[in-house]
Amino acid sequence: KSGFVAIIGRPNVGKSTLLNRIVGEKIAIMSNKAQTTRNKIQGIYTTDEAQVVFIDTPGVHKPQNSLGDYMVKSAFSALHEADAIWFVVDASKKRGAGDNFIINRLKEVTNTPIFLLVNKVDLLKKEDLFEVIQTYQEDAPEWTEIFPISATEGDNVPELLDTVIQDL
Ligand code: GDP
Ligand code: MG
Repeated sequence: KSGFVAIIGRPNVGKSTLLNRIVGEKIAIMSNKAQTTRNKIQGIYTTDEAQVVFIDTPGVHKPQNSLGDYMVKSAFSALHEADAIWFVVDASKKRGAGDNFIINRLKEVTNTPIFLLVNKVDLLKKEDLFEVIQTYQEDAPEWTEIFPISATEGDNVPELLDTVIQDL
């Protein structure tokens, strides 16, 4: 089994932390500057049964000009080539313009499972989690699955990996 997972989310939500946790030292096996046509390969997670290649989507932000607009469009095109999309949000921050910009583009994606990863749950009181999740269900695509995670603590990360591998 093998596949591509595209990770997307506004800056500082914890994308790199999550990838480092998953891929760890294995990131050093390959040049971490390796490029596909449009996207940087961030790491490869390998087990006996599966290989998952993680790509990031650079330049995913509100474009400031037409060049920026072009770059954002090519960044988003990666989403259509992925086997799964992980949309990462910060549970300790309110849903904001950066999240909404990405969510609106995700609405255009069809046929690719999109997972909502609610990261930094370690900063949250347990009873507040439901409310945070709800804010990402209004005016959004229907998430294939929702994973509350902590990239720093590792909470729910093995379960997330199992799910993505099962679906490859
Ligand atoms: P990126 O810009 O999305 O790649 O975000 P980073 O991975 O660089 O993380 C931004 C900041 O959030 C760093 O200071 C991380 O240590 C912190 N961070 C990431 N994940 C977690 C988490 O699960 N819990 C907490 N408390 N902090 C986190
Ligand atoms: Mg990063």
